[in-house]
Amino acid sequence: MRLSQYFLPVLKETPKEAQIASHRLMLRAGMIQQSSAGIYSWLPLGKKVLDRIAQIVREEQNRAGALEIMMPTIQPAEIWQESGRYDDYGAEMLRIRDRHDRDMLYGPTNEEQVTDIFRNHVRSYKTLPLNLYHIQWKFRDEVRPRFGIMRGREFLMKDAYSFDLDADRAREAYNRMFVSYLKTFARMGLTAIPMEADTGPIGGDMSHEFIILAETGESGVYFHKDWLAADLVTSVNYDEDLQPVVDKFTSLYARADEKHDPDNCPVSDGDLMSLRGIEVGHIFYFGEKYSAAMGATVAGPDGANVPVHMGSYGIGVSRLVGGIIEASHDDKGIIWPRAVAPFDVAVINLKADDETCTSCAEDLYAKLQTAGADPLLDDRDERPGAKLAAIDLIGVPWQIVVGPRGMKNGVVEVKNRRTGEAVEISPESALTMVMSDA
Ligand code: ATP
Ligand code: MG
Repeated sequence: MRLSQYFLPVLKETPKEAQIASHRLMLRAGMIQQSSAGIYSWLPLGKKVLDRIAQIVREEQNRAGALEIMMPTIQPAEIWQESGRYDDYGAEMLRIRDRHDRDMLYGPTNEEQVTDIFRNHVRSYKTLPLNLYHIQWKFRDEVRPRFGIMRGREFLMKDAYSFDLDADRAREAYNRMFVSYLKTFARMGLTAIPMEADTGPIGGDMSHEFIILAETGESGVYFHKDWLAADLVTSVNYDEDLQPVVDKFTSLYARADEKHDPDNCPVSDGDLMSLRGIEVGHIFYFGEKYSAAMGATVAGPDGANVPVHMGSYGIGVSRLVGGIIEASHDDKGIIWPRAVAPFDVAVINLKADDETCTSCAEDLYAKLQTAGADPLLDDRDERPGAKLAAIDLIGVPWQIVVGPRGMKNGVVEVKNRRTGEAVEISPESALTMVMSDA
């Protein structure tokens, strides 16, 4: 992408309304634009990161055996009346009436909708196990939308729903999602700690929240200090028994504050950490709660009809954009992990009216594309200082700076955004260096 042809409305001033780094940086980097409280438009740079995160989530869901579908944002009230949640959900639910006076709602979640799909099509246990997911916008009329897209009213969520014949098999489905969440967050460069959690209004008896540590997080968390050194990158595959893997992680104490009881905590004071965190994912097993209420039954091996055992598994896809920034930024701006970066490398031409600089920058830009990278070329007619500041702000992992001084010696400067390390090398070596960091 040529920056001269891109839409990157960066702000010089720090927006006053933003209280935390990620909100501030997303506005300054021209990633989002508020539409109304808790509702945002995603501008090109923001949309690109959002898509990259969604794609990692999608790949890991598919790998774990979940099947992608797409359910609507607008749902009929009837299915929520059947489950009993239409009244329970209260003011967070955005209720809509269509022209025929039918009660509709903008979905805050999709347990009812997916259970309705299931009961219409599945009759036998032979179709099980089944796990259906989608990545779709949700609406929750939060009392206090804040921190930009972190606690929005409209937000993008991945929600998966598992269906199994009995509690033991449902536990296997739960474990697959547990492991897939570890893999998903690790790919994004995040340390997300699974914490035993309350099941809340969804109900049920097994639940974990995945929480990344950040001073500005809304959740208080308590955990054994060994978590800080724990290796959350898991290379297990889904053909093995996952229970020992899950047990290994859950045996180390970690609780969000509502589940932490200081009087009955097994961890000694010296080993207990108390920090703040951001919830980026939440998984639940809730058994027959919806299937029994809505008649989602299957014929078991003995021919008798039984309600299926269900679980649901959410990831805050749009919240992750802010969460990753909270975990990875400095005073100059965002520092994207390569896996979710909007561009792999920025080629910055410091002197757009210099022929040598321009031909070198253009050549690098073309070669990076040919090599399969996604480069950004800063070909704008701007002051060098403004260019470098803008590229630092938007957090592209690598910068190749092409300037007249270096060109005299046939070199460019390659800078790593995270470490700040810079080297002067030939354009060919620059290409090799950037491409070898996949
Ligand atoms: P929270 O405790 O933060 O209110 P929740 O428990 O209501 O979240 P879930 O129903 O478990 O959320 O939703 C799954 C995921 O969706 C959460 O883990 C979170 O990452 C994300 N999420 C929930 N509410 C919001 C919101 N208002 N804005 C952005 N993301 C959200
Ligand atoms: Mg939750």
